[in-house]
Amino acid sequence: MLAESSPRKFNLTAWAQSGQPASGQVELAELPRLRADLDLSGPPAKPIGWQAQVEQREIAGGPPQLWLHLLAQAHLPMSCQRCLKPAEQEVQVDRWFRFVESEEVAEAEDDDSEEDLLVFEPQFDLLQLLEDELLLDLPLVPMHDSCPQPPVLTQPDGLELEAEKPHPFAALAQLKKNSS
Ligand SMILES: [Zn+2]
Repeated sequence: MLAESSPRKFNLTAWAQSGQPASGQVELAELPRLRADLDLSGPPAKPIGWQAQVEQREIAGGPPQLWLHLLAQAHLPMSCQRCLKPAEQEVQVDRWFRFVESEEVAEAEDDDSEEDLLVFEPQFDLLQLLEDELLLDLPLVPMHDSCPQPPVLTQPDGLELEAEKPHPFAALAQLKKNSS
């Protein structure tokens, strides 16, 4: 039964046949790669709500295609680039994916496909995909709309403007974007 399967081991074929959406909440503790990019010095973060559905689409002249729709909404604490305190950032995921049978097919078809391609796995790890998507959608320059405390603009020694120093995570996130 779909309801009893773990979101890390979804049976895609059975899921598509059931026609049922799946949904749940995941704690940040289960997403270590995402956690590494966050500022956990503030109050505990809320769990992330997600919803997903798999459907089979009939294609003329070929086998049916398997598609996945993933929706998620997260409020993630990141370091404000202005005052360096935790700032909650809202990140939303709403994306369609199409499963293909192999990495080779994914590479061959990727340029011609508007949708994202995933390699079919009998036991699919939905949380890993969710984590990938949240990492991709993290703001590069997180900031409070208005900072709770005014940033310190001048150090006593006058050597540097603290508020203008880029945060190391911003550079990392940029690297990740470029490499994907
Ligand atoms: Zn701030």
